[in-house]
Amino acid sequence: MEFKVGSSRLVLKQGDIVKEETEAIVNAANETLLGGGGVDGAIHRVGGPQILEECKKIGGCRTGNAVITSGGKLRAKYVIHTVGPVFRGGGRGEPELLASCYRRSLEVASVQGIKSLAFPSISTGAYGYPIELASRIALKTVADYLKGHPEIQEARFVLFSSKDLEVFKSAIKDAGLE
Ligand code: ADP
Repeated sequence: MEFKVGSSRLVLKQGDIVKEETEAIVNAANETLLGGGGVDGAIHRVGGPQILEECKKIGGCRTGNAVITSGGKLRAKYVIHTVGPVFRGGGRGEPELLASCYRRSLEVASVQGIKSLAFPSISTGAYGYPIELASRIALKTVADYLKGHPEIQEARFVLFSSKDLEVFKSAIKDAGLE
């Protein structure tokens, strides 16, 4: 599924993000940047030790922020590591922090001159954010950014399961994309 947002493309697909050929892929990391499960585990496993070495030098990342490393052995040249909020009911700034993850990742990409990047569904695995809520924030934040930033030619959401892809497709309307 593909949408035009300004002059950019917004793509929704099912897949394994470590296989993406976008210039950058986004990692749902934790504040230590020292690796974890889910997307993080897969990225370090496939990308090799170089990514972890660079993460150690950076030294950590606050929730809602994003940092960049090389992509090691991945097809993507870069990994943008962002730290999503742990969901604790939604009244502790989680929506703003989740939006910030997507925005900061895109800002880091713009600064680096990256034209295409792929996002997983941040915070909706181990961090427990209900995907019905998270998908709306994700789509709206990315679409809003693309409107003002044609330098990002393509942003993809790569959803692990067909169910997650369906949830994102349902959220398209709420994000004002249809
Ligand atoms: P968080 O800690 O931010 O919740 P997780 O990695 O636990 O991050 O999960 C985030 C989402 O990424 C979940 O929906 C999970 O199913 C999905 N996911 C896990 N592995 C992959 C992968 N290789 N490619 C794409 N999505 C993945």
